[in-house]
Amino acid sequence: MKRLAIISLMSDGGCHIAFLELHEELLHLLGQVELIHSYMLVDRREIPEHIDIALIEGGVRTTHDIELLKEARSKSKILVALGSCACFGGIPGLSNLYDLRASLDYVYRGTPTTTEGVIPHENVPSVIRVAPISRFVQVDLQIPGCPPEPEEIKEAIVSLIKGEVPSQPSKTVCDECELGPPKEKPRRLRKIYEPPEPDRCLLEQGYFCMGPVTRAGCGAKCPRIGVPCDGCSGPAPKALDQGISILDALVTLAYKNIENFSLKQHSAYFYRYTFASSVIEDLLRKKLRERR
Ligand code: SF4
Ligand code: SF4
Repeated sequence: MKRLAIISLMSDGGCHIAFLELHEELLHLLGQVELIHSYMLVDRREIPEHIDIALIEGGVRTTHDIELLKEARSKSKILVALGSCACFGGIPGLSNLYDLRASLDYVYRGTPTTTEGVIPHENVPSVIRVAPISRFVQVDLQIPGCPPEPEEIKEAIVSLIKGEVPSQPSKTVCDECELGPPKEKPRRLRKIYEPPEPDRCLLEQGYFCMGPVTRAGCGAKCPRIGVPCDGCSGPAPKALDQGISILDALVTLAYKNIENFSLKQHSAYFYRYTFASSVIEDLLRKKLRERR
């Protein structure tokens, strides 16, 4: 039986929960693999030897994350990035927009604070810029999403058990969305609390929807209930940089026609999940290296 491990780095556990959301299907799956590591399900701290499939949850935020990740890689035949933090850095990656020292000052010395202004540094791992796991180790498969779809996790594990390459979506959320594609240019950006017209593309109505540049696989579950896609599954296969791709789409579609568009104000939307793996992050890192 193949040995499966779920290993957590900086994480809120949401991707682990997505695995548990397989509910009774989990019982079938656990008949096919031996779950040897999972902080929620297995009473064991150390990463075991001889892992066939390692699912890595969470991005890299500390030097300890790097150590764990490298240990996991050295003990695993197949290493999978589970969720958008592991794949792209996720929402925590937006903190890379700020200087690391300034962020620590804000958290530990800002107001209000419960830490008496002390930034911990003794016997704790160093905090570093948020990064996707691929910055440090070879990744064999990505299952993005915030959280990832339970069904996709299951199908990937089943394929890997059989020695097959799991299939990956090749389309965008728009391709799965019954509201689209957008046909008209929006005139103004709408706020999320303004109720949308039913049965009409949200981007066309002026909601900021990342569907055109986001990887399919979720069944367009947010637009289906009237909520714009915020891009949690990361870039669509042909959109290597999600933020630049949506900017490109907006320029083509509407930029000059929209009354209340502000690049500065809306930039956190473009990179909500992928800033730490963006082209801009690469440039920032290069600049920081040159300064040292
Ligand atoms: S609502 Fe969003 S996901 Fe659906 S077609 Fe329009 S832009 Fe694409
Ligand atoms: S519609 Fe967009 S934000 Fe919603 S689950 Fe799908 S990829 Fe994520």
